Amino acid sequence: MPVWNPWHGCRKLSPGCQNCYVYRRDSQFGKDASAVTRTSTFDLPITRNRQGVFKLQTHETVYTCMTSDFFLEEADGWRAEAWEIIHARPDLKFAIITKRIGRFHISLPEDWGSGYENVMILCTCEDQQRADERLPVFLDLPIRRREIIAEPLLGPLDLEPYLASGKIESVTCGGESGEAARRCNYDWILDIRCQCVKYGVRFHFKQTGANFCKDGKEYHIERKFQQSQARRAGIDHLCTDSLGPLFDRLAQSKFRSRFRLTEQDLKYIQDRGMDAIRAHAEDFIEKRLAPAVIENDGRQTPMRGHPVFPAQHATATCCRGCLSKWHAIPTGRALTQPERAYVIAVIMEWIRRQLEPSTPPRFEH
Ligand code: SF4
Ligand SMILES: [Zn+2]
Repeated sequence: MPVWNPWHGCRKLSPGCQNCYVYRRDSQFGKDASAVTRTSTFDLPITRNRQGVFKLQTHETVYTCMTSDFFLEEADGWRAEAWEIIHARPDLKFAIITKRIGRFHISLPEDWGSGYENVMILCTCEDQQRADERLPVFLDLPIRRREIIAEPLLGPLDLEPYLASGKIESVTCGGESGEAARRCNYDWILDIRCQCVKYGVRFHFKQTGANFCKDGKEYHIERKFQQSQARRAGIDHLCTDSLGPLFDRLAQSKFRSRFRLTEQDLKYIQDRGMDAIRAHAEDFIEKRLAPAVIENDGRQTPMRGHPVFPAQHATATCCRGCLSKWHAIPTGRALTQPERAYVIAVIMEWIRRQLEPSTPPRFEH
């Protein structure tokens, strides 16, 4: 993942900063992380290589200001220029993580309007007090894409009032790493996941941290296993970057695994192209799956006639009953935007896999 650090160094602000990794890493090199400096890579997103090509490739998500805070007071004089750089690369997505959401308006570009399409703001809340201070402000700001980072998670969090707004796309949780890491409790993580499932918000358990408590037992987990242990918990919700385990489960189902694209489907995809197939999938989902109440639920998806239909049966995205059973997406309310995006991603991934040359021989169903 590309990282762009236009400035380096930060000032500690709240309990989550106590064991800040920027401070820890800088001290290893005898540097003072509280000295905030503009970096030599300030222009990275608009820098080109010798061939004249941008160093950062189109469509990438650029994690911005990872060794500081984008809205830090000391950077007020540089931020307008950084916004200009962001504006100059609409083909990149910029993810900005901040604990200073209250300073968001300072040096905001004049043409910001309701937010640049390519900017995602991730507001950090490590405990309930910080959540209740920052999230009401966060929800009121003109931002197109909002996420919450609960890392290092220092206690249980009730995010329901904020998730219920429908303005939060995703919540990422994790423990704290390092020698002096404070303990993270798995029950807090599971509870946040429950809240995300209820409100149709994406959820990612990123890492356990070094000191982890599960079922009343304390674990010390080495740095190199903290992410893999979190992944092994298998509790991510609506995340599309690792669909492998879902496809493994689907392969175990006799009914799901027998679906294949027919010759007709393949020709249709070839003629129309994948963008058109995706647009059709979006339309089908919008009309037949997304509404809160569906009269013929369980019977709304034909078995054939369009490549998206077998994909839906194969991936258990054919009706709200299957979505609930296989994907933990609740019935009885309209699908949220993250849920729709997830369903489309699953369908398109199945089709993509069907188009791979390694697919076993096809038969009609
Ligand atoms: S805001 Fe982030 S970078 Fe700054 S001190 Fe706190 S944890 Fe470190
Ligand atoms: Zn179904």
